[in-house]
Amino acid sequence: MPIATSNDATSQLNALVERGAPTAEFLPFFASKREAASYLASANAARFHPDAAADLCAACSQRPVTRLIVYRWNAVFFDGFGFGPLDALKLALGHVGVTIKKEIIGFNTTHPLCESCGKRLRNRRWIADVLNFIGLFSVIVAGVAASTCWAGVFYFDLKKASERNEWYMMTAVSTAVLLAGVICLWLMKRLRVPPALRFLASRPFFYQSSKMPKHP
Ligand SMILES: [Zn+2]
Repeated sequence: MPIATSNDATSQLNALVERGAPTAEFLPFFASKREAASYLASANAARFHPDAAADLCAACSQRPVTRLIVYRWNAVFFDGFGFGPLDALKLALGHVGVTIKKEIIGFNTTHPLCESCGKRLRNRRWIADVLNFIGLFSVIVAGVAASTCWAGVFYFDLKKASERNEWYMMTAVSTAVLLAGVICLWLMKRLRVPPALRFLASRPFFYQSSKMPKHP
């Protein structure tokens, strides 16, 4: 619950939800970021409830609706390191385990789409899946390679010019691939959600998944 429960605070909060304000603007009303996030989650879930779906497309706000898209938005909160009975048991068995306690706050929103925005989004989601795969793969592989190369450039005493140039070359290539992977992942995020709805992915919330059921 908000700290201030006066009518004034409630109407201010409603206005912020209506405007799609970032989470930072909700923080003054709550004791913690977590409380602000759970308020935002339930408010947006109610605002974009399946029964509340409007008659016009949520992406172009021009054409009539033929299908829906359901998004899942999540936020993850970490509680620091926990040491519970299971960890004590693991320690006794010779395994040192650290459990990170986390809480996921998530909500669904449903949005109406017209035929052409729906088709475009479907194609873009397919491209996003491919980009996601390429991006993750290159971030992991090039990340390991780039950190090795950078460490080599800084710590190895490279005396021969040819050796040095080889390391610089490898460092430049692996760093470029790493950046390309990061750009892929960033693009993917933008492709999955139309600009009009991107405010829902404002931190701490992020895109989790989506599905496109037929409009009843
Ligand atoms: Zn549309």
